[in-house]
Amino acid sequence: MNLNFKGKRALIRVDFNVPLAPDGVILDDTRIVKSLPTIQYILDQGGSVILMSHLGRPLSKLNEDGSIQVNKFTLKHLVEPLKSLLGREVFFAPDCAGDEAARLAFDLRPGEVLLLENTRFYAGETKGDRQLAEKLAGLGHIFVNDAFGAAHRAHSSTAIVADFFTRENKTLGFLMKDEIENANKVMYSPARPLTAILGGAKVSDKIQLISRLIEKANTLIIGGGMAYTFMKAMGGETGNSLLEENFIELAKELLDQARKENVEILLPEDSRCAPEFSNDAEMKIFNSDAIPAGWMGLDIGPKAEKAFQEAILKSGTILWNGPLGVFEFDNFSKGTFTIATCVAEATKKGAYSLIGGGDSVAAINKAGLADEVSFISTGGGAMLEYLEGKTLPGIAAIES
Ligand code: AMP
Repeated sequence: MNLNFKGKRALIRVDFNVPLAPDGVILDDTRIVKSLPTIQYILDQGGSVILMSHLGRPLSKLNEDGSIQVNKFTLKHLVEPLKSLLGREVFFAPDCAGDEAARLAFDLRPGEVLLLENTRFYAGETKGDRQLAEKLAGLGHIFVNDAFGAAHRAHSSTAIVADFFTRENKTLGFLMKDEIENANKVMYSPARPLTAILGGAKVSDKIQLISRLIEKANTLIIGGGMAYTFMKAMGGETGNSLLEENFIELAKELLDQARKENVEILLPEDSRCAPEFSNDAEMKIFNSDAIPAGWMGLDIGPKAEKAFQEAILKSGTILWNGPLGVFEFDNFSKGTFTIATCVAEATKKGAYSLIGGGDSVAAINKAGLADEVSFISTGGGAMLEYLEGKTLPGIAAIES
């Protein structure tokens, strides 16, 4: 960020898409807290700051009369928390692109902060509408993209807006750079062995990531619902566990690819199973390749935990994406939390650990271990796509 912000209005695309309780209270402010260094730096340099973000999907959850549920999706809920985090006044524009937003933006003096209303109140936002992007761009002298969590979208406020700034007047923020540096460390210069832990529901969502990790990692641990498609591909019986029939062949190919590349694949030897998808269901442990009809694997079992722990504790670098079981159910969260604790333990012993994406971040936070891993990504889908090797439009727009 070696731009001169003095006397300039910096339009910052932040990712303030935070979870809110029905009364508007922020349930997790990690994304806001991680945006502060960029905001503070610009203010300290004598610039003013205009913050824009989306929040949720307001246009897919309209009121019955077709109007927006403003109270549910307004960024106004963030004004007071931002004031206390920044220790200064935060003005709010009840529209991100109209005349009032422009008036409030042009009135800003150095050191002042303006938060714009939800960019997704405009249908053009997610379509990458150029007119909307131009209006947003008109508010600032400099554009700073610090919204890693939205960088995989070519939306008006995340990517298209950057077209209206010269190369000298746009930059990535500190959070964005931090995310890129940490992901690059794992993918391009990891301390070996590199162990990737993949969980979550479906193989189909993570095919590209699995394939890329087979090229990069030494050990690939596969848990969660997706493990059962691999088990089936190896000829196992998985009962009623989650199964993607159409991906069995592909799972076989991935296992072959791993064999050729000399990558160790660890699947859960055993599973905690239930006769129905419920926290209160009866629980029995079966080997994951011999789950009886009528039972489904909802968590990894104790033998799997032990094998996964051994691999994790031997690692120089650990990448974790996705829970190892239905961790939302207390009775089937043991595997995920055991692995979270083990990742923290390996980190204490000197390994570098990156927790990339959605539910594994929630699990680390729930386990109270957020401070005991090396890096927690603020981007779920964006981190996944970055790790897959895709170009993220929000980054490309700044660099082009
Ligand atoms: P993903 O968004 O792909 O990372 O998937 C996360 C979801 O996978 C969570 O909601 C988990 O409950 C779910 N999940 C993990 N393990 C299993 C399993 N064995 N069976 C069904 N769902 C699972």
